[in-house]
Amino acid sequence: MTPTIEMFDEAVIRRTLETARGDAREVLAKARELRGLDPEDVAVLMASEDPEVREELFATARWAKEEIYGKRLVLFAPLYVSNLCTNECVYCGFRSRNKDVRRRALNQQEIAAEVKVLVEQGHKRILLLTGEAFPRERSFEYVLETIRTIYATRSGNGEIRIVNVNVAPLRVEQFRELKGAGIGAYQLFQETYHRPTYEAVHKSGPKRDFDWRVTAMHRAMEAGIGDVGIGPLFGLYDWRFEVLAMMEHIRSLEREFGCGPHTISVPRLEPAVGSPFQAQYLVSDDDFLKLIAILRLAVPYTGMVMSTREKPALRRATFQLGISQTSAGSRVDPGGYGEERPDGGQFQMGDHRPIDEVVRDIISLGYMPSFCTACYRLGRSGQDFMDLAKPGEIKYNCDPNAVSTFQEYLTDYASPETRAAGEALIERRLTEMEPAPARTAAGFLRQVRSGKRDVFL
Ligand code: SAM
Ligand code: SF4
Repeated sequence: MTPTIEMFDEAVIRRTLETARGDAREVLAKARELRGLDPEDVAVLMASEDPEVREELFATARWAKEEIYGKRLVLFAPLYVSNLCTNECVYCGFRSRNKDVRRRALNQQEIAAEVKVLVEQGHKRILLLTGEAFPRERSFEYVLETIRTIYATRSGNGEIRIVNVNVAPLRVEQFRELKGAGIGAYQLFQETYHRPTYEAVHKSGPKRDFDWRVTAMHRAMEAGIGDVGIGPLFGLYDWRFEVLAMMEHIRSLEREFGCGPHTISVPRLEPAVGSPFQAQYLVSDDDFLKLIAILRLAVPYTGMVMSTREKPALRRATFQLGISQTSAGSRVDPGGYGEERPDGGQFQMGDHRPIDEVVRDIISLGYMPSFCTACYRLGRSGQDFMDLAKPGEIKYNCDPNAVSTFQEYLTDYASPETRAAGEALIERRLTEMEPAPARTAAGFLRQVRSGKRDVFL
């Protein structure tokens, strides 16, 4: 499969950027139809420097987010189990030649201990991450074994209900096994869609193969994984180029499989211990907010994921502009959740707050933290999810599911202060919901408050 040749033609993308003409307000009016935007429209929005257009862009993105996703924000935790890596990605703390990081791959007992900590914090959704280790077959077996361990670990009322995975690109048969292991989504970042930059920052190791990486999602979908998550690592190259190239990536998946990615992540480059990399394309906060708002309108039905790389204030702003999932209380080093002296992390984080504090903050913004995992578990993935999401119908499922999983969190894990604020938010939200989902949500709430767990539709 060679979708890359025409997919990332640098000259075509550059021409679209350079010839961006059009009225940004007309593009915003088109965006309100919630049918997405063409690359030329996106280029017009990216080129606009008018402060009034910027405000209108933000207002339109806020409106689109609420229209489609309502007032929910799904929470997850990353779980780094190994920092062994054969690649030399110059920007990453885990790069193979970095001597400042102690290498380790957690054994299954250590993994279970980490998972227990996350379960006891209230997490239900894990994103599993590793470096790229050799021998490849053994490292894949390790990933499968880890998934089994995560699902088998329980503590009190809790367990992890869905494992998403971010590991090096796999072959189709391996993707099939990953699906068989019960993962939710497969996530992989292209880092940069600009080939010369890609070659310059990936100095050695299997990751040097741009084509193998950029076709990973095609293989995952071929293997039947309906939900894939993509994203560039913003800061390696011009963000405008990355956004347009990513749109090409999305279109290629849509053409071939009838469905684009389930999520887009927006990681921004952070300093990493032992990384000599001097970034020339760092994305400013202003541009970062702008690109998130543009993506919200360009692909309105695609979830957007925000990590704890960013500081709390910036995270807050992005929640309003279109982010639908976020991590909380993260550690980016193997053993980092349970151990006193963790090893060096993959990069510096901007948000070190524990989950309870993040949850309280989200409540104060009027958003409901959700621990829902229903779609994955009911097989509502890929095209099925998109069909449900497109007419805004997802609100009918998501809102009640958010209420039930949030109440579980509040009852089982929250501090008294967070619980009081959260329950007040739930009461308020019930009065704002449409009658049918409000009735479902009230029924769920009664069940959870009387001791039932894992109630969803
Ligand atoms: N090792 C695999 C890989 O590279 O695809 C899997 C996951 S890697 C642990 C997760 C992601 O962290 C990478 O894809 C990269 O985008 C991101 N990352 C690496 N170094 C970073 C840095 N200094 N700042 C922010 N994100 C970084
Ligand atoms: Fe290894 Fe991934 Fe870091 Fe590259 S980004 S050095 S592959 S862990």
